[in-house]
Amino acid sequence: MEAIKMQLPCNFLPQEDGRCGWYEMLPEPPVATPLRGEVKADWVVLGAGFAGLAAARRLGELQPEKKIALIDARRVGFGAAGRNSGFMIDLPHDLSSHSYTGAQDSDLRQIRLNRGAIDYMRDIVKRYAIECDWQERGKFHGAVEPHGIRALEAFAKGLSQLGEPYEELDAHAMKRITGTDFYRAGLHAPGAVQVQPAALVRGLGATLPSNVTLYEDSPVRNIIIGNPHTLVTDLGHLQAPKIVLANNAYAAQFSQLGLKGRILPMYTYGSLTRPLTASEQQTLGGEESWGLLPADPMGSTVRRLANGRICIRNSFTYNPNVRASAQQLKLVLAAHQRSFNKRFPMLPKVAMEYTWGGALCVSRNGGAPFGEINPGVFSAVCQNGLGLTRGTISGKLIAEYALGIKSDLLDYALLQPKPTANPPEPLLSIGVRSTLAWKEWQAGIEL
Ligand SMILES: Cc1cc2nc3c(=O)[nH]c(=O)nc-3n(C[C@H](O)[C@H](O)[C@H](O)COP(=O)(O)OP(=O)(O)OC[C@H]3O[C@@H](n4cnc5c(N)ncnc54)[C@H](O)[C@@H]3O)c2cc1C
Repeated sequence: MEAIKMQLPCNFLPQEDGRCGWYEMLPEPPVATPLRGEVKADWVVLGAGFAGLAAARRLGELQPEKKIALIDARRVGFGAAGRNSGFMIDLPHDLSSHSYTGAQDSDLRQIRLNRGAIDYMRDIVKRYAIECDWQERGKFHGAVEPHGIRALEAFAKGLSQLGEPYEELDAHAMKRITGTDFYRAGLHAPGAVQVQPAALVRGLGATLPSNVTLYEDSPVRNIIIGNPHTLVTDLGHLQAPKIVLANNAYAAQFSQLGLKGRILPMYTYGSLTRPLTASEQQTLGGEESWGLLPADPMGSTVRRLANGRICIRNSFTYNPNVRASAQQLKLVLAAHQRSFNKRFPMLPKVAMEYTWGGALCVSRNGGAPFGEINPGVFSAVCQNGLGLTRGTISGKLIAEYALGIKSDLLDYALLQPKPTANPPEPLLSIGVRSTLAWKEWQAGIEL
């Protein structure tokens, strides 16, 4: 089928969105290679996050004789792939459910897909000795008040029905691990992996197959869909007959591809404290490092790192222009400090050193526009908040799908529902913002 010629202007481009501690803690990267002049490739992958890095790697692995171009507006690790809390989650993680779980058959397929991503990533991290603090230690969930405890119980029930192992923890056990008596109940599930996200994606970018060329600091301002497709940057043009879209929430501006009005650009936010001093670490007690998700998906994610810093993540906003405003970052910093102070009153002098936002792409029904959405245009966008695993497996599988390689995992990915249509504006903005406000209010102290 001939590609229908159309223009996809990229008016919303990745922005600064605050200073991300994970990225700032890394050494300066080597000088970037931006796209310059007229470049031709067999494949172009737009976006070097989890999905794009996996798609480009897999295309490179499967077609060593072909030229694959991977292009990003910023440095690898600067975008959401380097801005998250670093949980590679194997279990269902439906942010719109009050207990993360949903229908059993789709949860089981999601677990298989997520574990496929972890297996693929583990192999790469080991093979190339990528230093990213890869820790196979699962994740804790923590609950504070009756609302959170009910969500935790529902999650535990969901896991039992799925036949997944977990351990329930009481307030004493939670204090022994975290050092704080803030949590009244908890749960440990063993399958998740924790990483330093910016280090992981930088390592992935540095170890791509030799037939993949990575162009960084190259914002794509326009895409001309045709035969071949042309990506226009400030310094050049990149042409390829096939394109993989792995540009996360920025794809929500592509109305001509039917993505606008079905996928939603959301933001969530992280902060990292300064390193605790030795005496502060002693005062806190607990284990040297751990990672905890909130029982209520609207609560706070907390990680204590072996380097003495504590990471807080909370707050969701609907940002249709795919950027965090200075005002949002200011409010979030205050919210993160409040969440920190509630959990760690024994550390009154510890402030946040970095605060940042990052884009999530979600759909109202948790579906994704996975597949060939236009002739020669393949989509691996919309990870519904689970980018480390869902992004990785979407990228790997879209490459296999495009090359006709069949597998059970690919069948599961294709069985995902397509995103349902959103209501028109202004109903959409009003609806999303009021739902978020209501859910945050319900989350109460879990935040
Ligand atoms: C604070 C925070 C905490 C989170 N915690 C977790 C977590 O613990 N676990 C989890 O699984 N997920 C988490 N997430 C979500 C996760 O980070 C995302 O779902 C994931 O990064 C999406 O992967 P992706 O490859 O689809 O997109 P991205 O990682 O966003 O990659 C898309 C890339 O496209 C590039 N791009 C976009 N437009 C253009 C253009 N016009 N030209 C060139 N390049 C372009 C961007 O620069 C970007 O690098 C979190 C997110 C945030 C912000």
